[in-house]
Amino acid sequence: MGTIVEYSTDKRSINAYPVRIISPPFPSQCCEFFSEQLGEIQEENGWPFVYQHCVLCGYTIRRFAPRDELLETVRSWRNPTRGEKKGEKTP
Ligand SMILES: [Zn+2]
Repeated sequence: MGTIVEYSTDKRSINAYPVRIISPPFPSQCCEFFSEQLGEIQEENGWPFVYQHCVLCGYTIRRFAPRDELLETVRSWRNPTRGEKKGEKTP
């Protein structure tokens, strides 16, 4: 199964998960603070991933990582004030 995310600069972002998502092609500053997990952790070819979706701008990516790391990441999205995110890029 391929990705359900379509990246577009001229369409408005749409979250019709699990059918279809239209996302801006690039993240914004909001994405660090407003990202959420869409659906459950899934697998493609044995690789666990989650859809990471920003509720503000609609930016969505599939984040591939070991399951433990994904669970940790998803927890950090729900507690953005915890301030101990590792492996995140700095602006
Ligand atoms: Zn965003």
